[in-house]
Amino acid sequence: MSVEASAPAYIRSISPYIPGKPISELARELGLDAHTIVKLASNENPLGMSPKARAAVLSAIDELGRYPDGNGFGLKQALSRKLGVSADCFVLGNGSNDALELAARAFLPAGASAVYSQHAFAVYALAVQCVGARGIEVPARAWGHDLAAMADAITTDTRVVFIANPNNPTGTFIPGHLIAAFLERVPQNVVVVLDEAYNEYLHPELRYDSVSWLARFPNLVISRTFSKIYGLAGLRVGYVVANPVVADLMNRVRAPFNVNTLALAAAEAALGDEAFLKQSNELNSSGMAQILAGLDALNLEHIPSGGNFITFRVGDAAAVNKRLLQQGVIVRPIANYGMPEWLRVSIGLPAENARFLEALAVALKA
Ligand SMILES: *Cc1c(COP(=O)(O)O)cnc(C)c1O
Repeated sequence: MSVEASAPAYIRSISPYIPGKPISELARELGLDAHTIVKLASNENPLGMSPKARAAVLSAIDELGRYPDGNGFGLKQALSRKLGVSADCFVLGNGSNDALELAARAFLPAGASAVYSQHAFAVYALAVQCVGARGIEVPARAWGHDLAAMADAITTDTRVVFIANPNNPTGTFIPGHLIAAFLERVPQNVVVVLDEAYNEYLHPELRYDSVSWLARFPNLVISRTFSKIYGLAGLRVGYVVANPVVADLMNRVRAPFNVNTLALAAAEAALGDEAFLKQSNELNSSGMAQILAGLDALNLEHIPSGGNFITFRVGDAAAVNKRLLQQGVIVRPIANYGMPEWLRVSIGLPAENARFLEALAVALKA
């Protein structure tokens, strides 16, 4: 038997996650200066990290000879104060991606099933496949989650349901009361992972208090990240908040030092930087308006988004994407999400948004 055949069939059939193209890679391909490239492909905060997080990283550098705090005491205390639940409700992840995988590892035995939506974040299917479980993909409604159909899709072997709110790459948002009603319907032995990676970007009138539901639904797992509004994507840190029993199980399958010292320090400092969050939200709102106006002027269909990105229809998205790349503008093609006519663009700085819109007009004319 070959070494390849030693890997289980469900591992050999994984199609890898397709990330946004790195700036350095496009710069090499085009022979361009990296500084002239605009990357709006991974929903990062265009402001970078908060000044408080930056200062925390710099002052933590001298500790790097030692292992990180494997329990993340300081960050969990800060999260506990902020969210009003005890520190044993948290699981820290190397990005929330790691936390999503921990949920699959802790609750999904090989052969069991997990339910998620068509066009939902690609990591759910990957996390399910990695443990040899079966994914049940439920057709989307208006590009978003069809919660009624998802509840109906749960079978006796279903152990996990993934919901992204807002969803990436479609940006679709489910009002909080509908998620609460969904939780009422789901059997309590089925873990519901509610991925709120863009939670902090929601407009105040759309906000809902999912953390307060934990007392009522011990099967609820809320996942959040420091990669998006907090601007720490490169450091890799996210977390899950859940019932302590659930958090304990997930912590048992976690690698002992999965979140590094710099990430722990930065995340703790970022949590307390309300001014930076406010500034980031304002920048996102005005940038969203700028890009929506530009897409409307080009007569392009788009999906209303609750996040820091917008998905729009261009027809031959692969060709348009290529012409954007040639102009040094990186956005995200989402054919791998079953949306070959669409592109996703992250909201950037005003000048980046303008560059994107100019390049898009050129790319569409060609
Ligand atoms: C970006 C994103 C994440 C997480 O990213 P991490 O960097 O791993 O924290 C999780 N879910 C959704 C829907 C996302 O868009």
